[in-house]
Amino acid sequence: MALDFNILNVSEAGGRRAQLHLPHQTIETPVFMPVGTAGTVKAVAQDVLESLGAQIILGNTYHLYLRPGHEAIRRMGGLHKFISWPRAMLTDSGGFQVYSLTQLRKISDEGVRFRSHLDGSSHFFTPEHSIDVQIALGADICMAFDECTEYPADRDRAKESLRLTMSWARRSLDHFRARQDEVVWRDACNGKTQSVFGIVQGGVYADLRRESAERLVEMDFDGYAIGGLSVGEPREATLEVISTVLPLLPKDKPRYVMGVGFPDEIAQYARMGVDMMDCVIPTRAARHGLLFTSEGRMNIKNKKYAEDQYPPDPTCGCMVCGRYSRAYLRHLARAGEPLGGTLNSIHNLAYYLGVMQRVRAELRAPQATTSRLETNPTRP
Ligand SMILES: [Zn+2]
Repeated sequence: MALDFNILNVSEAGGRRAQLHLPHQTIETPVFMPVGTAGTVKAVAQDVLESLGAQIILGNTYHLYLRPGHEAIRRMGGLHKFISWPRAMLTDSGGFQVYSLTQLRKISDEGVRFRSHLDGSSHFFTPEHSIDVQIALGADICMAFDECTEYPADRDRAKESLRLTMSWARRSLDHFRARQDEVVWRDACNGKTQSVFGIVQGGVYADLRRESAERLVEMDFDGYAIGGLSVGEPREATLEVISTVLPLLPKDKPRYVMGVGFPDEIAQYARMGVDMMDCVIPTRAARHGLLFTSEGRMNIKNKKYAEDQYPPDPTCGCMVCGRYSRAYLRHLARAGEPLGGTLNSIHNLAYYLGVMQRVRAELRAPQATTSRLETNPTRP
């Protein structure tokens, strides 16, 4: 058995309050997943993530494959043990990072040849190899190897990209099903094992998205992701793709939108029926001094905070807002002190996790209605 998805309540707008039972953790959904690229959510220690209430974090297959290497991580008991993270994890397939290396890659039907951004060494990733690496890393959820279609892409280009992604999805799934019991922690988790999600692509073309979703559903993955978003398309296009795809996905399986978004976006998508989301925005913005607060975005480097003794967000209950002032965070940011990035990241993650916690609370009530959900003041 891999995962068990138990829906507790569905709102009129389609938002789902559910529990996702994974080998390392039962997750309350909808859930926001902090991104831990290279075995760390940048600048934030694992015990802090736990105290913030992070239930599941991402690991990055491409980065961990290059350094320290997936075989080394397997020998050390898998990624959970290596980074000392007892809760759930998800690894991406490496497809998105390879996509980002536009100048360094060559794609064929067989797979992708790319050069390491670290030392220029040459590597070849196939769907089978991506799955092998993800089994070695041992996250609770693996992702099928896909090609992330760039934006803008004309219809022919999006169609060709989709053809490749669908063929890779089939190969990823077949290889995963043949090997899914090999994960290093299987015996320690009572015989439970990893799951694999398929990724819907198709650019901004509704018919291609539909075709992609239908073909993946036929293949019968454990869950489904909508990929190829947050690649520069306008926000209305993101929303359009999500609205098109969600009704085509099985109601009884988890739905994951990859790489989104700002706080109001993740709340909006969760209310539409998206169960899982991940994004680098809270931590990346934090390192640049941008804080998300109940009163909107705050550039903590701004001169007006020089002697401001209020916490970053007076309504936030996080450990940063409970202890430090805007003036101190501004000083740290301007002085380039690493603690500034850490404290800003902790607050932003607390804010994102809090947004999702409030959406879960709204969705808990069986009488929840669309109008009530839309007037709830969780937007920054
Ligand atoms: Zn805070």
